[in-house]
Order: sequence, then C-alpha cells, then structure tokens
Amino acid sequence: MDMVVRKHLFKALTLTMAMGLILTGTVSSTDKALAYDGISMSVVELRNKVSQADIDKAKRERDYARNQARNASSRLESLNSQRTGLEGELANLNQMSAEQQAQYEIISGQLQAALEAKAAALDRFIIAQGNLEDQQELFAQRVGAMFEFQNKSTLEVLLESDSIAGFFTNLEIISLIADSDNQAIDQLQIAMDEAQVAADQAMAEADNMQRIADEKQAELDELERRIGVTTEALESISTEITTAEQERDQLNAEAARLDQRIRDLTRQYQNQQAAAAANYSGGATKVVSGVSFTWPVASRTITDPYGPRVHPISGVTKMHTGLDIGSSYGAPIVAAASGTVIQVNLPVPGRNTGGTGYGNYLIISHGNGITTLYGHCRNIYVSSGQTVSQGQKIAEVGSTGSSTGPHLHFEIRVNGSTVNPRKYLP
Ligand SMILES: [Zn+2]
Repeated sequence: MDMVVRKHLFKALTLTMAMGLILTGTVSSTDKALAYDGISMSVVELRNKVSQADIDKAKRERDYARNQARNASSRLESLNSQRTGLEGELANLNQMSAEQQAQYEIISGQLQAALEAKAAALDRFIIAQGNLEDQQELFAQRVGAMFEFQNKSTLEVLLESDSIAGFFTNLEIISLIADSDNQAIDQLQIAMDEAQVAADQAMAEADNMQRIADEKQAELDELERRIGVTTEALESISTEITTAEQERDQLNAEAARLDQRIRDLTRQYQNQQAAAAANYSGGATKVVSGVSFTWPVASRTITDPYGPRVHPISGVTKMHTGLDIGSSYGAPIVAAASGTVIQVNLPVPGRNTGGTGYGNYLIISHGNGITTLYGHCRNIYVSSGQTVSQGQKIAEVGSTGSSTGPHLHFEIRVNGSTVNPRKYLP
C-alpha cells in the first residue's frame, strides 16, 4: 500500500471517530467518555434529545466505517496473494540456491583436485628439470675429461695406455661415454618437455576449474542477492499486512461501536416518541369549514389511507371510510376538534382486541354537520352527551373490532357522508 492511501485511511478513521464524538452533541468531556462505554449511555440520554437525524448520521458513519473495513479487507486479499507469490519465489530461489550450492561443492572438489594435479605436475616438471640439469652437469664433467683425452694425440693415448688392448679400450670408452650421455640427455630432455606439457595442461585445467568455480560463485552470489531482495519485500509486505489488519480490525470495531450506538439512540428515540405519545394533547391545527382540527393521536404513520381498498381481512375491494393511523396499545386518543360526544360504543372495554366492526368506538359532533369517529379503541374515557375540547384525551389506542393491529381508525363525516380526513388535518 502506498503512503497516500495509508494516510487517507488513517484520516478516514480519525474522522469517523471524531464524527462519533460530535454526535454526542453539547455534552461535557466526562459525558463523551460515558457515551463511549455504552453502559452509561443513559446518563447522556437524560440530558440530550435524540432525533431521527442523529440516528441517520450514526448509520452513515457506521456504513462509512464498514465500507472502509471492506476496502481494507480487499487490500488485505491483494497483499496476501502478493505475499504468497513472494513466498513461492523465495522457496524457488532457496531451492535453486541449494542446487547451485550442491553444484558448487562438486566444482570445488574438482577445483581442489585440479589444483592438486597442478601442484603434482609442477613437482614432476621440477624433478624432470632437475634430472636434466644433473645429467647435463655430469655430461659436462665427462666432456671435460674427454676434452683432456681428446687434446692428447692418439700417440699420447697410446703411450699412456698400458697396452695395445688398453689403448683401444680407452678410445672406445671415450666414444661410448659420449654416445650414452647424449642419449640420456635426449631422454631427459624429452621427459622434461613432457613434464612441461603436463604441467601446462594441469595449470590450464586448474585455471579452467577456477573460472568455472568463480562463475558458480557469481551465480550463488546473484541468487543470494535475489533471496535478500525477496526476503526484504516479503518482510515489507508482511508489515503492510499487519497494518492493514489493524486498520480493518479498528474499523470493524468502530462499526460495531456505532452499531451499539445506533441501537442505543434508536431505543432512546423510541422511548422519547413513546413518552411524547403518552403526553399527547394535540398539536398544530387546521381550520376547515369553520372547525379547527388537530391530529387525534401523536403518530403520523398512515397505515391505510381513505379511499377504495382491498379489505385486509375479507379480501373484498370496498371503500375505506377513514384514515388508519398506526400507533401502540394505550397511546392517547384526543378529540380532533371541540364538540359533543354523541355516541359511545364500548362492547369490549379495556381490551386490546375483541368485538366486531369498529370495536370500541365513539363519535363526536362538531357542529356545521361535521362529526368525527374514533374506532378500534382499547378504552374510552368519555360518555355520550359530554362536551369535549380539542386535544382532550377521550380514549386509548387498541385493536378491537375488525382490526389486525393497534391503530386508530379516524373518520370525518360531513352531513353523514365520509370525507378524506387527511384533508382536514394539518
Ligand atoms: Zn380503518
């Protein structure tokens, strides 16, 4: 991995951690520490309101960390395959080196033998040379002796000889000595020449073996150098792998920490929502046909709009006469507008389910021919004839009657005909 990529990664990691810190908002440094251990999260919760945006932000940070971790993982894959390649190369080089080393041992042996042969040939040459010189010296002495003879006249030899026979013998000896010495010198010259040739050959052979050994040594040195380079590359890549592994692990840990944070924030957000819903007493208003309307529950989740639909239980397409707003059991239902309760039907009081049709329901009249209906309630707190004001708690969410889960079926009728309630709500 090059330096730029690595720097970028560390930067990203630092940024992710910094973003995590920012998330805790305006909390003190002590709270930041608390926020990080997860367990003491509630200390921060008490002081900070969580918004959906906070959760989304944590999710983006988590996704970013995950993505970076994946990048690190794929870089690791590439690095690991590079390492495998280098390990193979190194094994190859080591094997080659071992083979070359073995060859070198053989060549070294041969070189040693050639050097010994050279030394022996040189010894033999020196001996042959010595023999020749000895013989030549001996010959020179004899020639000296003969010279003395030869300077004498045949008469002098005759006179110095003991007898005629001795005279002839002396002459013959002189001649014989010259012949045999010449022969011996010739032979020794030949022997010395041969020794010279043999020594030259042995020297050439030794030189040749030395050259081969040097070449092999050079090959070995080159292999040794390549082994060094490969080993270095392998060490460097191993370091990169360790770094990338650390980065990946840190990023995964960061993602896991953010996962926990998202869970904490979500729980906190849900608790906040539930608390807000429990205290719901109406919100923004909208005036239609002279009547002010507010949402009858805290939730704004429309699970089924007004209009024709396939009925979730009967499967038959028919008109859905109200607005289904998803909520939780027991969430407060308030009067959407001020008016008078004109009908309360409570066949299964206090129960989440049971009954038929609208289940537990009530109708409020708001004047101008406008009425509102609240269906599938768990309980109802008002009675027929009672005056209620906008935002007053009149019932709680249930799933009584023809219902598949906790929700409020909210209807508005104008002169007895249903209208789309969404148009009356802010
Ligand atoms: Zn409905």
